[in-house]
Amino acid sequence: HPEKPFQIIQPPFGKDTTTYAPVSARRLEGKIAIVTGGARGIGEATVRLFAIHGAKVVIADVEDVLGHALATSLSSSASVSVTYFHCDVSSEEHIKNLINSTVSKYGKLDIIFNNAGILGSQTKNKKSIVDFDPEEFDTVMRVNVKGVALGMKHAARVMIPRGNGCIISTASVASVMGGLGPHSYTASKHAIVGLTKNAACELGKFGIRVNCISPFGVATSMLVNAWRHSGEEEEEGGGGMNFGLPNEGEVKKMEEFVTSLGNLKNATLKGSDIAEAALYLASDESRYVSGHNLVVDGGVTISRNCVG
Ligand code: NAD
Repeated sequence: HPEKPFQIIQPPFGKDTTTYAPVSARRLEGKIAIVTGGARGIGEATVRLFAIHGAKVVIADVEDVLGHALATSLSSSASVSVTYFHCDVSSEEHIKNLINSTVSKYGKLDIIFNNAGILGSQTKNKKSIVDFDPEEFDTVMRVNVKGVALGMKHAARVMIPRGNGCIISTASVASVMGGLGPHSYTASKHAIVGLTKNAACELGKFGIRVNCISPFGVATSMLVNAWRHSGEEEEEGGGGMNFGLPNEGEVKKMEEFVTSLGNLKNATLKGSDIAEAALYLASDESRYVSGHNLVVDGGVTISRNCVG
């Protein structure tokens, strides 16, 4: 790593005066971040990475036991500050309390990662457009779309007066293609891209960047739940339950997926891969990126030859 600032090599087509600061290992030093759905899965991986990079992180989730345990275990390291806040993202009251309490504790909010989401029912017949359950549809929309919109709304309210901020949300490869999940899920993830673009248009003038990430399959509780219940007659919870780690058979199933990077056996997508994308979008390195849907899928969505 260079000890002193240095200038990049001038490109032949014009003078670029960018000066790189000395490389700092902690890319979010001094930042305050909220991660919704941070108690496990992709959110947990992001909480860990943001904290390592110097952010003070608030985990917002409904899984109180997991959330508290994660915050306690991470905060046992001297240089890390992680707290847990109970918050159902589909409730405006909860989101308001989350953001107000974060700002009163830390004085500001730099980053919100609207990551909480549910998959919806995997019951075979409810997956069909001719027989979907409107109530279940509402439930998915309430968490995945309204939850993200509320996170944007209340984060923007405290970010606008400060003239900067960073809003990131988790969409899915189901935001750019069909046939990967229930209709409610696909519709909700497409909606997150729309919200991201609209909010980016509106908030850019206040120095707020708005982006989303679209992961392919990460073997979290959500996916394991879907595998275990696909085609069953009835299922409660719609991805909200804690199924822990995938078993051997499920890992094998995961490995059968084919991406343009090859068989996932050799290149399994992990929560930390999504966390790295979130770190990029949260850090100043992406200062000119807004309204973007960063697809992290090993190239699955670029070819009909991919997916197992
Ligand atoms: P997960 O089920 O392991 O984690 C989701 C977290 O969100 C859990 O901690 C859960 O308690 C929390 N949550 C659910 N409903 C909530 C609510 N109303 N309020 C607050 N928290 C709530 O699943 P994951 O795979 O880590 O999912 C994270 C995000 O990534 C979701 O938005 C999901 O749609 C998206 N995603 C996942 C995959 C994948 O393959 N795992 C692929 C594409 C997108």
